[in-house]
Amino acid sequence: MIAPVHLLLTAVLAGVLALCVLGSLARSGMAGIADTMRANVLLVLSMPLLALQQYEAPLWLCVILANAGVALALCAYFSGLRRALGLRVPRRLMALCCAAALGALVYYTYAAPSMPRRVAAMSCLMLAFMLGTAASARRAMPNNRSGYSYRYVWWVGVALAAVCGGRAVLYLAEVMQAQNALDLKAWNAVFMVPSVLAMPCLTMGTIMIIHDRMLAEREREANTDFLTGLMSRKAWWLQAERCCAHALRTRRPLALMLLDIDHFKQINDALGHAAGDAVLRHFGLLATATLRAGDHVGRVGGEEFGVLFPDMRAEAAMEAAGRLLASVRRTPCSHADGAISYTFSAGVADWVPGENLQGLYARADRALYAAKAAGRNRVEGPGAPAQSLAAAA
Ligand code: GH3
Ligand code: MG
Ligand code: MG
Repeated sequence: MIAPVHLLLTAVLAGVLALCVLGSLARSGMAGIADTMRANVLLVLSMPLLALQQYEAPLWLCVILANAGVALALCAYFSGLRRALGLRVPRRLMALCCAAALGALVYYTYAAPSMPRRVAAMSCLMLAFMLGTAASARRAMPNNRSGYSYRYVWWVGVALAAVCGGRAVLYLAEVMQAQNALDLKAWNAVFMVPSVLAMPCLTMGTIMIIHDRMLAEREREANTDFLTGLMSRKAWWLQAERCCAHALRTRRPLALMLLDIDHFKQINDALGHAAGDAVLRHFGLLATATLRAGDHVGRVGGEEFGVLFPDMRAEAAMEAAGRLLASVRRTPCSHADGAISYTFSAGVADWVPGENLQGLYARADRALYAAKAAGRNRVEGPGAPAQSLAAAA
């Protein structure tokens, strides 16, 4: 049978492997990596000290110092997980739990020596951290993307909490009769396997969460227009396809507005590209503030924007567009060279049941050209004047 001391050495090797994987993330700048590395280093250092119990080393070394290392490793791991999840680290609570467990450890080592109570004290500390781990993963569970990594951490936390709780109860009830924590007898080895696997499994969970958050960040970057903070063209187009499919399924109306800032080149030419950029940012803010939260605004080209109005017909969408145009007219963009006044032209189209996005987009685009041809600074709808369309063509 494998001896507990071998299990501790396995934990050391697993910790070293975990450090190698964490090393690959060290320069990613993601929160929680440094703490998780610290946790593994502390555990790698504590395990050999715990193993010294077999060789009758002084208790301050193989019990007090070794378990203090384990307690610090738990704190570092939990801080890393909370940081990776974007949650606050409860330093005081962690310090209180560790102080209580280490106080009990000192008491049951020197004042009233009792190995079962020492094991129970450390088991209770681990139980508290594992419950905290499960609760943190549950709290940060995302609702708009896969929660696999979070569920994994939740399950590991709950399973380890059950093991630690069971071990504490069995030791306190004196069902477990081992002479020292590394005694081969009875249940000791059974409980040691999950304890030894705990840090590698938990570290793997943190790495999975860090990867998931990196992916979410990259997706957010790809879906967001860097200058205006609005949806990028690709994200907006996918959203538009979803809106068409939803309208078809629910038989609800859908309107599309395409708009283009008027004489934008002149702003660039007269005041410079930085001023042009400021106008684009200004428009993004105004559009977000003026339109409904459920209207999807995206930057579809240089100074061209698309707005989807779910559950709205063109008439109502034109009113919303009129409100946005009024807001742009009365709120010039403030810039170092003074306020920059600008306007836009827009075309609105109603989605026709069964029509694909390209068809809807082309009709809104024709209405936009009609608005440009009719003198700019206006919104044209489905009934755009034929001569305007002809002029635009
Ligand atoms: P119209 O009223 O007919 O729309 O005229 P316009 O000047 O707005 O349109 P035109 O297509 O002639 O010019 C658009 C300009 O937008 C040209 C391009 O250099 C500029 N532009 C495109 N993207 C950006 C950007 O990100 N920042 C800045 N500052 N300018 C941009
Ligand atoms: Mg344009
Ligand atoms: Mg323009």
